[in-house]
Amino acid sequence: MGAMSSTWESILARLDDAAALTGIDPAIHQVLRHAERILEVSFPVRMDNGEIEVFTGWRVHHDTTRGPGKGGLRFHPQVDVDEVKALAASMTYKTAIVDIPFGGAKGGVRCDPTKLSLHELERLTRRFTFEISPLLGPDRDVPAPDVNTDGRVMAWMMDTLSMTTGQFLGGVVTGKPLSIGGTRLHSGATSSGVVVCVRRVFAEHGLSIPGKRVVLQGFGKVGGPLAFLLSSAGMRVIAVSDVGGAVVNEGGLDVAALSDHVTKTGSVEGFHGGDPIDADAIYALPSDLFVPAALGGVITEEVAEKLAAPIVVEAANGPTTIEAEPVLDRRGIAVVPDILANAGGVTASYFEWAQSRQGYPWDDELVAERLRTRMESSFTQVWGKSQQYNVSLRRAAFALALERVAAAIEARGFFP
Ligand code: NAD
Repeated sequence: MGAMSSTWESILARLDDAAALTGIDPAIHQVLRHAERILEVSFPVRMDNGEIEVFTGWRVHHDTTRGPGKGGLRFHPQVDVDEVKALAASMTYKTAIVDIPFGGAKGGVRCDPTKLSLHELERLTRRFTFEISPLLGPDRDVPAPDVNTDGRVMAWMMDTLSMTTGQFLGGVVTGKPLSIGGTRLHSGATSSGVVVCVRRVFAEHGLSIPGKRVVLQGFGKVGGPLAFLLSSAGMRVIAVSDVGGAVVNEGGLDVAALSDHVTKTGSVEGFHGGDPIDADAIYALPSDLFVPAALGGVITEEVAEKLAAPIVVEAANGPTTIEAEPVLDRRGIAVVPDILANAGGVTASYFEWAQSRQGYPWDDELVAERLRTRMESSFTQVWGKSQQYNVSLRRAAFALALERVAAAIEARGFFP
C-alpha cells in the first residue's frame, strides 16, 4: 500500500472537505475530528496447550449522537487503534447516509485467527466481550461481524453478555444465527445493496445493464453473491481475482462453475472456464464496471491511472486511497463510494436489531423490499447532493452524512 496516508488521516481529510463544502458549525467539525471514546483492553487467554497468551483489542465509539454505536468486530494480526478509529468514523457517516438510528463504532482484536483453535477463538471472543462490556448494549453499542468474525462469534458475544447480566440480550449484536434471532437475508444484504447502486449509476449515465462487462476483485462473502446477482442481471463477469490469483474470459465467466471451483479449491486460481492472468492485470482490462470487493487501499494513484473501467462501485471498505481520488476525478471515472455502496449490510443489521427488539421476525419479502427501498432512496439523495454541490459522489456522500450528523449534534446541544 506504499506511503499513502493512514486510514485515520484519510477519513479526517474527507471530513475536512465535507465540512468546507457544507459550511457546518466549526465546533461540530472539531468534535467529529476525534473519537468519542476508545477502550483498549489487554487480556489473558488460556491456549489449548495450557499456556497463557495476552491479546490486545479495542472498541471505539466515534460518534453516538444519532443512536447507539454500530460497527463490526475485526480479528486480524495487523489491526491497530488507528484503523479501528477510522472504521468507526466511517460507520458514523455510513449509518447517516442510509439514515438508520445508529452512531459509528468499530472493534478489533490483534490476533491471527488462522492460528487459533475453535476453543481458543471462543475463549478469546468471550473474554474480549467481557472486557469491553461496559460499552455494549442494545441502546449503547451493537457489534456485528467483520473481517474474520461471523455469526458464531456474534452468538458467543450475545451469550456472554446475556449470561453475565442474567437476561436474553438479542439486540446486543447483529449478524446472529437465525436460531437466536438473526434476520433473514443478512448474508446477501451487502451484495444486494451493491447491485442497487450498480443499476442506479448505470441508469444515471444512460447505460443499460445487459451485456456490460464487469471486473470483480474478491470472491468472498460479498464478491461471491455479487457475481451471481450481476450475471443474473445480464452482465458479463469477464474477470475475477482473489487472494490466489485471477481468471479472465471475455465471453463471461460461468459464475456457478467458478463458485463450485472456489468451494473445492479455495481460490479462483486454476479455474478451467477462463484463462489465468496476473491479479494486478485486472485493472487495465477493458470493461464497463470495476467492483473492488476485497481489501482496502488497492486503488492507488498508479492503479487509478491505468484503470480501464469508467465506473467503479466500491463494495469493499476503503478500496480507494485519498491520493488516487483526484486521478479518478480527472479521468472522469464515476465512483460510487463505499459508505453508500456497501451500506446494505448495516441496513440489514438495523433490520435485525429492530426485529430483536420487537421480538417479531420479518419474512424474506419484507426484508428484501425494505432493503431495496432504503438503498434506492439513499442513492437518490447522494446523487441529488452531487448535483447540488457539483462534486463527486464520494464528496456528496460525506456532505450528506455530515449534514445529518451535524443536525443531530445541534439538536442535542453540547452537554452540560
Ligand atoms: P471475505 O473474507 O469473505 O472475502 C474477501 C475476498 O477478498 C476473498 O475472495 C479473498 O480471496 C479476496 N482477497 C484477499 N486478498 C486479496 C488480494 N490480495 N487480491 C485479491 N483478492 C484478495 O470478505 P468479505 O466479507 O467479502 O469483505 C470484502 C470487503 O467488503 C471488505 O473490504 C469488507 O470490509 C467489505 N464489506 C463487507 C461487508 C459484508 O457484509 N461482509 C459489508 C460491508 C463491507
